[in-house]
Amino acid sequence: MTATALRPPSHLFYQTRQRRPMLDRGEGIYLYDVDGNAYLDGSSGAMVANIGHSNPNVLNAMRRQMEKATFGYRLHFENEPAERLADETVKRMPPGLDRVFFVSGGSEAVESCIKLARQYALAVGQSERWKVISRFPSYHGSTLGALSLTGMATMSAPFAPMMREMPKIPAPTWYLDQDDLTPEERGLRYANMLRDRILQEGPQTVLAFIVEPVGGASTGALVAPDTYLPRIREICNEFGILLIYDEVMTGAGRTGKFLGGDHWPDAPPDIVALSKGFAAGYSPLGAMVAHRRLVEPVLNSGGFIHGYTYAGNPLACAAGLAVLEEIDRLQLVDRADRMGAILKGRLEALKQRYPFVGDVRGKGLLLAFELVADRDTMAPLPTELNAYIDLVEEAYARKLIIYSRRTRGGIAGDHFLVCPPMIINEAQIDEIMEKLTASLDAFAD
Ligand code: PMP
Repeated sequence: MTATALRPPSHLFYQTRQRRPMLDRGEGIYLYDVDGNAYLDGSSGAMVANIGHSNPNVLNAMRRQMEKATFGYRLHFENEPAERLADETVKRMPPGLDRVFFVSGGSEAVESCIKLARQYALAVGQSERWKVISRFPSYHGSTLGALSLTGMATMSAPFAPMMREMPKIPAPTWYLDQDDLTPEERGLRYANMLRDRILQEGPQTVLAFIVEPVGGASTGALVAPDTYLPRIREICNEFGILLIYDEVMTGAGRTGKFLGGDHWPDAPPDIVALSKGFAAGYSPLGAMVAHRRLVEPVLNSGGFIHGYTYAGNPLACAAGLAVLEEIDRLQLVDRADRMGAILKGRLEALKQRYPFVGDVRGKGLLLAFELVADRDTMAPLPTELNAYIDLVEEAYARKLIIYSRRTRGGIAGDHFLVCPPMIINEAQIDEIMEKLTASLDAFAD
């Protein structure tokens, strides 16, 4: 790394982390610093840049819109990109989910889901329902409402007096369980924890259950057994509780279907939150998509009391529309499925070489591996090792970007998400694996 790329500290602050090189430009699956070094974006940022960087068709669509209007407040004008993007979004949703509300990011999308659910309950005379059950570990965003659902104590504990912590059930970390049950039986066991919790809370007080259909940053691409979400859907139906899918990370093709939840068509959601890959980093954009049966009573009883200034602005929506067009034109959903199967196979093969690679999981190109001390017991590596930091730094030194978190509730265990843009080809998968293997060798020393 040279002196120009690495500038001294500035007035900007995000969180404690080492200063990184200065970004210059992006192209395809690579990002370049101001010294011209190329970094392979093996995590699409934070699982955002799904169609790769600097896609010319998206940039042109944005340029065309920019020259017309970048902003028109939603109470003053309708705008065509927003209307068209809503139409295109609905075409990709499960039946009945045809009411769209645009926002500017994932946390805002989750907030919108909660507020719509609550207003629906009020509109149909169920004012006692307000609790939204979620899971731990989980990540649903950093605003206080979304944080109250987030099952990562390290992120929420400091704000405890300022928000109401919502009830949580364990995420199905079935791959860690040491029992004689089959995965399907474990899936049911974890799903039934929702039923127990609803009964404990009082069913008449529970509004909704929110879940990432495939786990994201918190659990590291955790895929529940196929029995899990259908049973969750049954339980929600039994008690009249709304099922919200947080598809902020899993949506827009990442898992090899347009929605992560599409892998379980028997378990359709009532409301969906989208962001990240929805505009794929070209603009801050997100959406809540809800079943019309929820939206109509709200609109008929005074309207949805909610909104953000930038919601549905024409430039963001033009970007989102062009991203959806590119996803179709380049058949990126199928490609995520195909390339994901190849990359997952290559990650699986790491187990032969490294005894500390414990679990490889995910769907499509939402993939992760977890490092462990002992593969038989799945005991985590010692916390003091900080493997989740060290391996990322080894990879970064080799100009491969991967994304890591401490798993198991943020307390122990280390997982690494390998989620390159969906445009990736096999030669580029080879490049990821070469850099990753060299990084694991260095880490093992
Ligand atoms: N939900 C999920 C599943 C996420 O992964 C994230 C972001 N990592 C969010 C919500 C919050 O999105 P944002 O950071 O855009 O507010």
